[in-house]
Order: sequence, then C-alpha cells, then structure tokens
Amino acid sequence: DTSIRESKTVLITGASSGIGEATARHLASLGHQVMLGARRTDRLAALVQDINEAGGQADFRQLDVSVLEEMQAFAGAAHERFGRIDVLVNNAGVMPLSPLSMRRVEEWDRMIDVNLRGTLHGIAAVLPYMEERRSGQIVNIASSSAHRVDPTAAVYCATKFAVRALSEGLRQESEDLRVTVISPGFTSSELMGQGGAPEVMTEVRTAADQLAIPASAVAQAIAYAVDQPAHVDVNEVIVRPTAQR
Ligand code: NDP
Repeated sequence: DTSIRESKTVLITGASSGIGEATARHLASLGHQVMLGARRTDRLAALVQDINEAGGQADFRQLDVSVLEEMQAFAGAAHERFGRIDVLVNNAGVMPLSPLSMRRVEEWDRMIDVNLRGTLHGIAAVLPYMEERRSGQIVNIASSSAHRVDPTAAVYCATKFAVRALSEGLRQESEDLRVTVISPGFTSSELMGQGGAPEVMTEVRTAADQLAIPASAVAQAIAYAVDQPAHVDVNEVIVRPTAQR
C-alpha cells in the first residue's frame, strides 16, 4: 500500500536554523531518521535532543559544506549511524547581498563556496551510497532567486540559478535517483543576518518581515517530495508568500 509512508534516512545540511531546522523537526515527526549538519553544534545538539525527546530519531555532526572532506565524513557518519542514506537535503546557504559595483569579493566567494560548491560537495558525498543501492533522492534548496535576477542579488541569484541547472543535469543523468528542487520565496529564518551591504540588507529585511512565510511551510513542501514513491520524482516546487511579486 503506497499510502503507508516508508521511513527514510534523511541528511540535512544547514539544520541549525530556519528552513533546515523546520525540515528536521517535520520529517522526524513523520517518522524519518534525520542526520543534521551545520557549523553551530550547540544548536544542533539542542535540536537533536528535542527531536529525540519527542519520540523521533535524530543525530548530528559538525559540518562546513564548503569542505569536501567534511561533507564526506558527514555522509559516512550518517551511514554508520542509520545503516543507509535515502535522502540528502542540500539546504545550507548564505545571502550577503550587495551590488556588484561594491566589489565585496569575499562575500561573493562565500556564496559560491556554500550555496554552489556546498551543494556539489553534498552530491559528491552521497552519490556512492545511492549508486550502490540504485536509489536515493537529492533535494536541493534553490530559491525564487533561481528564477529571476534582482538588483543587488546578482551573485546570490547566480548561485541559485546554478543549483537549478546542476539539479536538472543530475536528474537527466540517472534513471534511479530522484532529484528535487525546492525554491522558496521570502521565508522566516536567520538568512538576513549574515553580512551583505547594510543598506541593502535593511531594505530586504523590511520587505521580508512583511511577507515571509514560516519555515514550516517550506518543510512541508520538502516532505511532500520526500514521501512520494520511488518512481515519482517531484522535480521542483516553488513556495512563496501569496503577496510576493
Ligand atoms: P538560515 O540562515 O536560518 O539557515 C542557513 C543554514 O545554513 C544555517 O543552519 C547555517 O548553519 C547553515 N550554513 C551556513 N553556512 C554553512 C556552511 N559553510 N556549512 C554548513 N552549514 C552552513 O537561512 P534559511 O533557513 O533561510 O536558509 C536555508 C536555505 O534556504 C538557503 O539555501 C537559502 O539560500 C534558502 N532560501 C531561503 C529563503 C528565505 O527567504 N529565507 C528564500 C529562498 C531560499 P551554521 O551557521 O550553524 O553553519
């Protein structure tokens, strides 16, 4: 009976706040095992304790997605802990916005390292496990910024367009793997607090504060894609505030 949900082992990067945290809580409440990664381990430890006390199954490991070896160790730890890897949610991301003319090159590099390279590292780390079992799912968190370019967001948009492009490439390559892109619009999280040109970030934060949907709304879209049967691949879901232009 396909209506009976299969319990899966789900790896989530950037699980220490926002969409990643909400996804961890939601998927665990649905009976999935979750392996959580991020740099702030105090947050992860508290979250794992919360989930396990509520009857879920969670564990964590410190992870910087921009370092391939750390991502491989994260996948290895998840496999050791839960015996398999069914789903990877490449969620870790940063959004320090500024116009290109300000040449905040270090922040450009950080967005490329985390949003783009981090996603690729995730794919590289879990593919061996998924290829061996000839099944698995990679969920990449892109953005409404993967569909349109806004002034001050050129590099952020470039990384998110790239995430969509490589997701489609991966999807075409494999008859076994499910590849899903989740593209949120303004969502309540800590994303606006991580650098960028102050005047730009203040403006974006004001718009976001008025519109943002809760991170749980995005978590539900992820769960919808994860809980489809193996032969059904939800390719992309765009979830944004009703009032967002
Ligand atoms: P948050 O800032 O709340 O969460 C981002 C997460 O990424 C944190 O857990 C952070 O953990 C983690 N992270 C950042 N850098 C690294 C790194 N180098 N290695 C590992 N983890 C890292 O923001 P959101 O929840 O909003 O962001 C989640 C995703 O959603 C991002 O990809 C973002 O681009 C995307 N998104 C968000 C939207 C929004 O409006 N909020 C809209 C569209 C897309 P730590 O610092 O502990 O490492």
